[in-house]
Amino acid sequence: MKKGVEVGRGKTKVLYENPDLSHAVVVVQQDNITAGDGAKRHTITGKGRLAALTTSRIYRLLNACALPTHFLSGGEDDDNNEMLVRRCEMIPIEVVVRGIAAGSYLKRNPGVKSGTVLAPRLVEYFFKDDARHDPQYTADQIVDEGICTTAELATMSDLARLIFDILAHAWRRQDVLLVDLKVEFGRAPAPNGGTEIVLADVIDNDSWRIWPAGDQTQMLDKQIYRNLSAPTATDLDGIKAKYEEVAERVGRFNKRPGGFVGIIMGSAADAPHADRITKALEGLGIPSRRHVASAHKTPVFALQRVQQLDNMLGRVVYITLAGRSNALSAFVDAATANPVIACPVIGSAWGGMEVLSSLHLPGGVASAVVLEPENAALAAAKILASDDTVLYGRVLVSQYRNRAQVIESDARLSSDSQGNGKAGSQ
Ligand code: C5P
Repeated sequence: MKKGVEVGRGKTKVLYENPDLSHAVVVVQQDNITAGDGAKRHTITGKGRLAALTTSRIYRLLNACALPTHFLSGGEDDDNNEMLVRRCEMIPIEVVVRGIAAGSYLKRNPGVKSGTVLAPRLVEYFFKDDARHDPQYTADQIVDEGICTTAELATMSDLARLIFDILAHAWRRQDVLLVDLKVEFGRAPAPNGGTEIVLADVIDNDSWRIWPAGDQTQMLDKQIYRNLSAPTATDLDGIKAKYEEVAERVGRFNKRPGGFVGIIMGSAADAPHADRITKALEGLGIPSRRHVASAHKTPVFALQRVQQLDNMLGRVVYITLAGRSNALSAFVDAATANPVIACPVIGSAWGGMEVLSSLHLPGGVASAVVLEPENAALAAAKILASDDTVLYGRVLVSQYRNRAQVIESDARLSSDSQGNGKAGSQ
């Protein structure tokens, strides 16, 4: 990768200009491992390479989930540990998300037992200042000192929680507990003018605590190094082996098992409903296959279609669409061990009473009912996401955008009502 002059340096990385791309910089992770604000420092040959592999694999996952990050390319190939990232104005705050009580949280909260599950997850802020040992800051302090705005801090906190959720899911799939995580953010030019908050800096095996099987004694992360007052060469080899294992395991985060939604409509007339489902699925990047097959009119053909879809490569979730008497959903459910979501097409003639045919089913039949087509698509996505972290992240991000919309609507309402003098009137 082309590098120009050095533009910045941290304890374990160096940043260079890219002579061809003014909006980007090159990050090179190094072979250092440090603790105690740099007071303890060693070199582990090859650590920079493993850190770049870990960071770029994590960022590829987060980009695939449509999270705003600084990562552009590199890290994985034969490129001397180099990654190309968007040039950002870094915000000097470490945002720590904690799912489990450990580390400095226990020192500050001596009454809490190590390993306690923290619900809701905790978000803490530390001001980056080695000389003062990165003091903890409150949200008010950060805003009062002009480090960032209230809105920027709210975005950072929301994104940090999302990132934790996504990485926790990826680790859970490997029976590893993500205990806590540190992330940093920057301001980058937004595509349509202004700036946007993006996840920046590196995320590697120094940035989190991870406990296989939820057992602290099996930890794989940098805490092993922190715990050793004078690590020997053998200790450092052992630490390198853990970093290798983590880079390899993180390489599995992006592996997707493949899955699709089989949409079975009782009639071609149900196509408008199916279109709404397909559009919602496409928004999450989920493929679908559509068939018309009626349980009442073509039961043998409907059964053949289910058998065909069941036999295809990739996991399948069925969404069944039928108007009037919905035999189709229960029929399909009884024919497959895969999940079936009934999304009946409810007409107005009987005051919607035909929904009852989807609800009260014989024993041993378990088709679920979701009436709104977009919600049926979401329900299918959640099922497929249980072993697909990219999809899980996309679902989380879509829920986050929904929340943001509601909060924005409320903010608009409040400013309108203040504008016309209704604020505070009771
Ligand atoms: O030490 P403490 O418990 O506050 O660390 C919380 C999390 O933040 C841990 O996962 C740790 O590895 C990470 N961290 C970091 N860089 C720092 C401080 C903490 O990556 N400077």
